[in-house]
Amino acid sequence: MDTDPDNFRFIPGVDEKPWDNNEKGYKKDKDLELYPLERVHMQELHPGERDNSFIEIIKGFSDEEALAEADRCVDCGICTATCPAHMGIPHYIRAIRNQDVEEGLRIMYETNPLPEICGRICTHKCETVCSRGHRGEPISIRWLKRYIADQVPASEYSEVLKRDSFEQNDKKIAVVGAGPAGLSAAYYLRQMGYAVSVFEKLPAAGGMMRYGIPEYRLPYDQIDKDIDFILSMGVEIKYNTEIGRDISFEKLQNDFDAVYVATGLHVGRSTRVPGSDHPKVFQAIDLLRKITLGEPVEVAEKVVVIGGGNVAMDITRSMARLQKQKFGRVNVVATSLETEDIMPADREEIVEAREENATIMPGWGPREIRIEDGKIKGLSVVQCVSVFDETGRFNPTFNEEVSNFFEADIVIESIGQGADLGFITAGFMEQLEKDHRGRVLVDPLTYQSSLPWLFMGGDIIEGPDVIHGVANGHKAAKGIDLYLSKKQ
Ligand SMILES: Cc1cc2nc3c(=O)[nH]c(=O)nc-3n(C[C@H](O)[C@H](O)[C@H](O)COP(=O)(O)OP(=O)(O)OC[C@H]3O[C@@H](n4cnc5c(N)ncnc54)[C@H](O)[C@@H]3O)c2cc1C
Ligand code: SF4
Repeated sequence: MDTDPDNFRFIPGVDEKPWDNNEKGYKKDKDLELYPLERVHMQELHPGERDNSFIEIIKGFSDEEALAEADRCVDCGICTATCPAHMGIPHYIRAIRNQDVEEGLRIMYETNPLPEICGRICTHKCETVCSRGHRGEPISIRWLKRYIADQVPASEYSEVLKRDSFEQNDKKIAVVGAGPAGLSAAYYLRQMGYAVSVFEKLPAAGGMMRYGIPEYRLPYDQIDKDIDFILSMGVEIKYNTEIGRDISFEKLQNDFDAVYVATGLHVGRSTRVPGSDHPKVFQAIDLLRKITLGEPVEVAEKVVVIGGGNVAMDITRSMARLQKQKFGRVNVVATSLETEDIMPADREEIVEAREENATIMPGWGPREIRIEDGKIKGLSVVQCVSVFDETGRFNPTFNEEVSNFFEADIVIESIGQGADLGFITAGFMEQLEKDHRGRVLVDPLTYQSSLPWLFMGGDIIEGPDVIHGVANGHKAAKGIDLYLSKKQ
């Protein structure tokens, strides 16, 4: 008897075993696969059909396509652990196999009240761990989520989700910010019976999902479908209401039993290179917000975007569309410190930006926005040798000998965003526990701050994406419920 457990552990087909060449027993034909290795192809608009409009690119699965893709799932559940919201992924995929999309919708709402939105723009980290990806392509989890939500008309949500009656209590909660974190908290709190008022400074709800992500990736009517259902449960949203300007933070504390703050990151960071204070240097998020609001946006013949993340790709591709509409051609250059292999933007974003005739120039560091006679001429750059140091810290180094120049009439900076918590008055701010960098600390399970009635979440605490906002909004709702039930 062998006592070493490792001798009983092996990977079939990889670790050699004495019985490998035995004539007897079952042998899988090397060309035989129990499941298709490739995912079902997603139909999308051809570049020529999409490059001058903001209509949605991805077409969505048909019934047959969704069924075929769902059939590839082996129900292992590894994806659920990786999803920040721990969505019941294999369960809703099984519902597709059972041709019961209503059950699929119910499963999704247990952990995520924004399925139309996440079915389109989720960062889908679950797919990176999908066990089918070890041999072949991972399951298209995101598109299957979208398929379920697309199948159930908004008019049937109440009946399918059975959310038209729930117990009400006499406690009132204020939510500041109607982004994914605020909306998720509002939905689950309302379901627990709380009266929820959401305060939103902009004219519509959705936060960066509406005012950042372009419409060709996430159409406004799909955002509305998710939000309308949350509103139908009795959540109240007070639009055009900025806390700190229209209503004081103290008033929230006085009028409500608990407050959840999820105001996101809406202050664009500047490169601060010479020339960056020129009036024709813009912040990507300001322009994206203006596009959603329908406000005029400066569209120039030559545009340079500084940044290599998804926000940079969103403004690059939006500008390319606007240039195509205005001038009939595209001249937008996006340049990043990172070389293409380490650019933070999703691969598909870079590929699609190029398909839409944008030029991507990775591996350059901005040095100066050159201005002549008061007008921008372009961006001077030098070669970026490395972005991070040995400890993994952001610490770019440059080769000043190798330089380049990108012509531009306007420059758009897209190198990150910060929070504006100025509405939290000094007295409260002083009482909040913070880390060595001055960031507010909250309990990682309940999102409660050191002021017991104040909970905080979303990007201001833990980004970087919608699904993290959904997850921590849900946890904060449970945290608030725990706090208020203990207080009674
Ligand atoms: C251009 C862009 C593209 C992105 N693409 C993706 C993507 O494809 N997939 C993905 O998962 N994530 C994406 N993200 C990230 C994602 O949008 C954010 O992580 C997410 O929206 C953060 O949610 P939040 O609720 O914390 O804040 P936000 O969505 O930023 O919402 C905060 C809300 O609070 C409001 N607010 C702020 N201050 C006040 C105040 N004082 N009073 C009242 N209201 C206030 C704001 O107006 C806003 O509506 C993208 C972000 C950007 C900018
Ligand atoms: S990891 Fe992939 S195969 Fe496993 S349950 Fe999730 S989607 Fe299905």
